[in-house]
Amino acid sequence: MTEPASTAGENACGHCGTKFRPKRRWQRFCSRACRFADWNDRNPRQRAVTEQLQRIEAKIDALSSETVLKKEAECR
Ligand SMILES: [Zn+2]
Repeated sequence: MTEPASTAGENACGHCGTKFRPKRRWQRFCSRACRFADWNDRNPRQRAVTEQLQRIEAKIDALSSETVLKKEAECR
């Protein structure tokens, strides 16, 4: 059986198995989240570090939007 033409050039994500069209030839995952998740699966000892990093990133996002709001208030 031959593959339908529409799936030519498509990859199955190495983590969730979703079919996607890679932007790079070596791209193995459909998204950043899957790349992180797969990496965590293979590096359980690093998992806590990655999770902490993601929490810190979220906090920075929250803080920077707070700062923007404060600056907007000062301008008034
Ligand atoms: Zn995926």
